[in-house]
Amino acid sequence: MNSVTIIGGGVSGLFSAYYLQKAGHQVTIIEQGNFSDGCSFGNAGMIVPSHIVPLAQPGMISKGLQWMLKSTSPFYVKPRLSLDLMRWGMLFWKHSTEEHVQRSIPILRDISLLSKTLFQELAASGEVDFGWHERGLLMLYKNADTEHEMAEEAHLANRAGVAAEILNSQQVQALEPHIRVDVRGGVYYPGDAHITPNLLIKNLLAYLKKQGVNVLENEEVIGFERKGNKITAVQTANSKHETEELIIAAGAWSPILTEKLGISLPLQGGKGYSFMLKNVKNNIEVPAIMLEARATATPMGGDLRFAGTLEVAGTDLTVNMNRVRGIVQGINNYYPEIEVALPEKEKVWSGLRPCSPDGLPYIGRVKGFDNVTLATGHGMMGVSLGPATGKLVSEVVTGKIPAMNINAFNPLRFT
Ligand SMILES: Cc1cc2nc3c(=O)[nH]c(=O)nc-3n(C[C@H](O)[C@H](O)[C@H](O)COP(=O)(O)OP(=O)(O)OC[C@H]3O[C@@H](n4cnc5c(N)ncnc54)[C@H](O)[C@@H]3O)c2cc1C
Repeated sequence: MNSVTIIGGGVSGLFSAYYLQKAGHQVTIIEQGNFSDGCSFGNAGMIVPSHIVPLAQPGMISKGLQWMLKSTSPFYVKPRLSLDLMRWGMLFWKHSTEEHVQRSIPILRDISLLSKTLFQELAASGEVDFGWHERGLLMLYKNADTEHEMAEEAHLANRAGVAAEILNSQQVQALEPHIRVDVRGGVYYPGDAHITPNLLIKNLLAYLKKQGVNVLENEEVIGFERKGNKITAVQTANSKHETEELIIAAGAWSPILTEKLGISLPLQGGKGYSFMLKNVKNNIEVPAIMLEARATATPMGGDLRFAGTLEVAGTDLTVNMNRVRGIVQGINNYYPEIEVALPEKEKVWSGLRPCSPDGLPYIGRVKGFDNVTLATGHGMMGVSLGPATGKLVSEVVTGKIPAMNINAFNPLRFT
């Protein structure tokens, strides 16, 4: 049994704590915020074994460049004179190949399916209520080009063993009995699921506290003490915490911390927005991605959450209402009956997806240190991969053979 300090109380940090505590370790979580607003809070809550193609893929660079010309577009790289951003961009470009996609598919599939199984176990255990629903995911399209692209992706998924059904507009409508859907068609991924992220964070945190996990809020980690190849203590503005193991699960801020260890971690925050429609009368049944609008819709109890945009933005969390307008404008093209207006700026949530340049997470020990483990870089899939990440982290720390091969997640793979 070791004392383990986890920096970051998002989904990666909390699930690491969950499995580490179960493995018998004495766990402390240090979070600079107050657990009510991080990236793990306002996201779309989709659990997506369907997402087997990494963000770095052929055509992504040219698509991104076209989108960047429009202020309401869903993808944007804020021009900044930053060596980190340039390095990240070069690595993203280098990995936007067919070969990388083919190599990544089985890896993303395996970690996603492992995570889904762990979510099912957690739901069945009754330990934590997080609004678990297995109703699949609809990828909706309006035009023939997207249909063609999505059909290819569906075949790819089926070949990889992830079920995908190509539906015409009537078949899509049959899945949504309460509300009209105006689309050319869609791909239905029956194996996907969804949760209510705010419930997950709140209830998982409460559960961990009850199990004796030590939780420090509003404490920013600002430095480390090191002896040889080991970090021996974590320094916050107010206090010092001795530790035998260190987990860095600090989302988009992780590079700031790894830099203090002499490690340059290629990772950019991919900013996205969400807002909630409350008490929707005729809510949708199945979470959906409105493909051309690059926006998502997820039913959460009686409410409906819309989310979207990916701005490569470092750690800037400011809300750009033009991009929120882009999300709002897209919705009625797919769901003409939903009454939705541009929300007030204060009601818009923004979060930073921790994006690695190759679309694979960073999970594992950091070479050069005997007791430092990373758990970040999940980009658009951090919630989906949360339980698997936590389990793998716990196995690494405990010295067990991991539930899957984690070589592809090596945090130092770009050095
Ligand atoms: C609009 C949007 C929609 C999304 N939809 C989905 C979805 O449907 N499905 C899905 O799987 N994923 C989705 N994601 C992605 C997902 O939300 C993220 O991948 C995930 O939340 C990342 O979790 P994390 O724990 O790694 O990082 P975070 O949630 O960012 O947590 C890291 C924590 O570390 C803390 N921290 C940082 N530095 C320090 C420090 N020095 N000291 C102390 N604490 C520190 C931060 O305050 C933060 O709370 C979405 C993201 C966005 C923005």
